[in-house]
Amino acid sequence: MRRVLAFFIARPLIAVAIAVVVVGVGLLLHTHRQTTPVTHRTQHVGLTDRQQMQLGSRQYAQTLRQDRAEIVSSGPAYAQVQRVAKRIAAVAARDKPAFTWKVTLLRKNEANAYCLPGGKIVVYTGILPVTGNDAALATVLGHEVAHATAEHAAERIEREHLTKIAAAIVAGGVAFTPRQYFRVAALLGVADSLPFSRSQESEADHIGLVYMARAGYQPRQAVAFWKRMQRASRGKEPPEFASDHPSDAHRIQRIEQWLPEAERAYTPAARS
Ligand SMILES: [Zn+2]
Repeated sequence: MRRVLAFFIARPLIAVAIAVVVVGVGLLLHTHRQTTPVTHRTQHVGLTDRQQMQLGSRQYAQTLRQDRAEIVSSGPAYAQVQRVAKRIAAVAARDKPAFTWKVTLLRKNEANAYCLPGGKIVVYTGILPVTGNDAALATVLGHEVAHATAEHAAERIEREHLTKIAAAIVAGGVAFTPRQYFRVAALLGVADSLPFSRSQESEADHIGLVYMARAGYQPRQAVAFWKRMQRASRGKEPPEFASDHPSDAHRIQRIEQWLPEAERAYTPAARS
């Protein structure tokens, strides 16, 4: 970070040249209107599916480089995460065929998981004792994957007028300023990023519930999971998938309202 800054201070002409490229990329961009899956909300985003995927892939590659030593690639936890993620991703792919879905399990003692724009999922081993069974893990992954298919990160980037910067980053340029670069990175939905808005969290719950049902997991299991979470996380800072301040009781209430819709989408999976 400091090196990036020093680079630009020492070379103001390059910074100006990059600014010109950024403006150029900006002229090629048009905000498009589209509809979120399941909730059918009209939204405005500037980044295309392809750009979102490139942005997410960059971040994903960086995470895997940083945490190379923590990647879990065998054993029962690995098998469970692959099994559940595969079924959730197959459902999400119907809404976003252009995304490439992939999941990595990292050995981290933190109850968290996230899905980057474009379909790259990261799960921490610390979440597995909290989820316990496949259906609860599907609740979490359904929620995370819904952030990606509903383009919540792209929407946040648009709202902060950073779409041009994000497009320039994926076009291979350096960001306009390091500060803006890190702002874009912070909006991607990674573990330590800025929280999604409350309405995006609620929408991810709704879409995620329908996704888990479509993937063959009994959606009622989501209610049981959130009740367990509520008991387990009392008084503690909630992890990403559980961040919907202020009240978990409300969240459970809303999920119960969406249950009939999710149950209509539910077909038990054939045993494999
Ligand atoms: Zn979330």
